[in-house]
Order: sequence, then structure tokens, then C-alpha cells
Amino acid sequence: MADTPTPRRKPKPEVTTIGGRTLKPATLMMGFGYDPVLSEGSLKPPVFLTSTFAFPSAAEGKRHFEGITGKRPGGADGLVYSRFNGPNQEILEDRLAIWDGAEDALCFSSGMTAICVLFLALCSAGDVIVHSGPLYAASEGFVAKHMSRFGVTYVDFPAGATREEIDAVLEKAKAQAAAQGGKVAMVYLESPANPTNALVDVEAVRDARDAVLGADCPIAIDNTFLGPLWQRPIDQGADLVVYSLTKYVGGHSDLVAGSVSGPERWITPIRMMRNTMGGIADPNTAWMLLRSLETVELRMTRAGENAAKVCAFLKDHPKVEGLGYLGMIEDARQQDIYERHCSGAGSTFSLFIKGGEAESFRFLDALRVAKLAVSLGGTETLASHPAAMTHLSVPEDRKAALGITDNLVRISIGIEDPDDLIADFEQALAVV
Ligand SMILES: *Cc1c(COP(=O)(O)O)cnc(C)c1O
Repeated sequence: MADTPTPRRKPKPEVTTIGGRTLKPATLMMGFGYDPVLSEGSLKPPVFLTSTFAFPSAAEGKRHFEGITGKRPGGADGLVYSRFNGPNQEILEDRLAIWDGAEDALCFSSGMTAICVLFLALCSAGDVIVHSGPLYAASEGFVAKHMSRFGVTYVDFPAGATREEIDAVLEKAKAQAAAQGGKVAMVYLESPANPTNALVDVEAVRDARDAVLGADCPIAIDNTFLGPLWQRPIDQGADLVVYSLTKYVGGHSDLVAGSVSGPERWITPIRMMRNTMGGIADPNTAWMLLRSLETVELRMTRAGENAAKVCAFLKDHPKVEGLGYLGMIEDARQQDIYERHCSGAGSTFSLFIKGGEAESFRFLDALRVAKLAVSLGGTETLASHPAAMTHLSVPEDRKAALGITDNLVRISIGIEDPDDLIADFEQALAVV
């Protein structure tokens, strides 16, 4: 290929060190991947509302399409058409990759789009998916109800499983794949699991994968609950990191988006599938996420501190039966995983009220600062009842196995004044 080097849209290499010091993500979020000179000096990136991009020459148009169609890895090195890429999305992807310590990232129109495109890109008929359980209900449903229609089966294991248990599950999956004429396509994890907050031992999964399957089977993990601040799963051996950016990263409960980050080897086929299907985040959402990333560390730090204070108050309250909070783990193995994998306990936890559904509903209806809504990771505190809401359609026996009881209230702490939140919980518990 006779390549004429063309200037990239963004200046490379970026300034990521000063005097031998590596700049931190919080610093890089203000400018990385964007050169104001290319946009009339606009300090902030404009929102690029266009469906297509003019090529400087026919040869460059051809070259860009080689990136789009996968003839060259790494995607197009220029802008082509807004189903494939765009300036706002590319800046966002560069900045997301920084948080995860990943080679590259892809943004999507929702967390579920990211997850579905990931499965469709990496699985073929006859393959087996191994996943931890429980997963986000829509993820679990996509594997069980939809991938199965294309001849892809699954094997699952409980989030807290040990190395020996994971080994056994991978052996079982390997035999199942051989019998179906396929491969084990992926190990898909979610940690901490919702709503139990059980942690997966990613290091043990990596060691088991290396021993039983080899490196050709990627480990993907949904890091929505603790990422990007409190958990960097690539450091523990995950290959791909998945997010619902709707939650902590977006952080203001005003957008829906998702992402996948990882090495080119796995990102390239996922990018190809996204190029075909669409599902890239729109320019306005990508722009909003750039704004959100500037404060993600501040917001998550404050929310985490608030959650620690609120949980310290709730812990010994006479109307509280218990807490599922990563800052107060009672199981020694779970505590060990926490110490190896996490740098903070997050701000989403389970509150078990003394009583059942009636007592929980009374508590929820009495809250005045906290809002009664599903979702998490926003600036505002939210409370919901999984058994009656997000997990309403889950069969009773599975609910019981997952610990989704009628007295479980799910709480996502925001960035309000912590004493105001404590006052709100105090008065709502008094009504129970
Ligand atoms: C919300 C959520 C998703 C789905 O993300 P959307 O942006 O709503 O599509 C996936 N995984 C987890 C853990 C989530 O909390």
C-alpha cells in the first residue's frame, strides 16, 4: 500500500508527561485528544452535527475506508461518516481509554448496545459464553434468550466463586463447546454484582482462563458500579471493560450511553460490528460525557465519602437489619478480593429494613431528599425496591437464590450534603 502520511485529526503524540511525571487522568480530562487550533480556537470542542465528512482527496477517502472496513486495524485515521466515527466520539473514546489503562475504547448509544454489540462481535454459532452471576438483568437475558437463538450457549458461576470452582466451570464450558463444534468465546463478568454487591475474583478468573483456555478467550467485565475511579479491571487481568456510561460516568441522570475499552485485538472486531449496526453515541451525548469526565473524580470521591458517612449512621440503626456495602464486608474471602481489586467502596449499596415489602415501601415513600427511582451513579441520591421494580420479573426461587428479598432497598448515594442525607434517612426510618 503506497501510503502518503496524512495529518491526523488530532495532534499526536499528546502531552501526557511533564518533566518525567505522568499526568493523571483528572488532568488529562481537560484537554486530551482535542486541539483548539483545529476548531477556530474554541477552548471546548464544538458539537459536530454532521452526517458525513469531506475528504481532502480521493486517495485519502480510500485510505479512510480501509480503516472502516478492517483492512487496516485501529479504525479509520480520518473522519468518514457519522455511523462510524465523529470528533466528539473520538475525543470521548481517547479519554475513556485513559481511565481504564486501555489501548482504545468505543462509545455506544447505551450500555446495553455496548454489551449486545460485544456479544454479537465475538460469538459464533456453537460457541459458549461463560459468565458470572447474577448479571444486569438485560445482559443475562440477552445471553440466555437471544444469543441462544444463534446457537450460542452459556455456563454461569456465582460471583464469589473460588479458583477451583472457576476452573471446573471453564472445563465444563470447554467440553460443551467441543460438543457443539465451537469455542469458549468469552468469559463475561460483572463485579460487584447487582444487587448483592458480591465481588468476582478477576485475578483468579484470569489464572483459570490462562490455564484452561489460553489467551484467545477474552475476559470482559461490566465495571459500571465501581469504574472508572474505584476499580481498573485491566490491572487484574481483564481484557475488555464495559460501562453503562449512563451511571457514574455521565453522572447527572441526563443521558444514556455505554462503552467498551481494551486492546486493538478485541476492539477491532467490535468496532467492525458497530460500523455495520450503528449504535455509536450521538455527538451531543458524547459532548455531554466530555463535560462529565472533567468532574468524574470529584463527583465519585464525594459520593463515596457520603456513602461511608450514611452507612456508618445506618449500620446500628434499630430499624435496619443489615447493609450490603463494600465498605463493611463481613466475609473474609470477599474482603480479600476487595483489597486486591478495589480502591474504594463506591456509593451504591443494599439496605435491609427490618420487616418486608410494607416496611420497605413505607420507608421509600417517606424519603424527602432521596428520590424514588431506579438507576445509580447520579449527583442525586436514589432509592428503589429491586424485588418490586428492576427484578420484578425474576422467578421467586431465583430471587431467593440471589438474596433479593422483600426488605431490600437499593440506594445510590449522590453528592448532596451528607448530614442532610442522614437527616432524611433518619426521618424516613422513623416512619417504618
Ligand atoms: C444500567 C446498567 C447497564 C445497562 O446500561 P444502559 O445504559 O441502561 O443501557 C448494564 N450494566 C449495569 C451494571 C448497569 O447498571
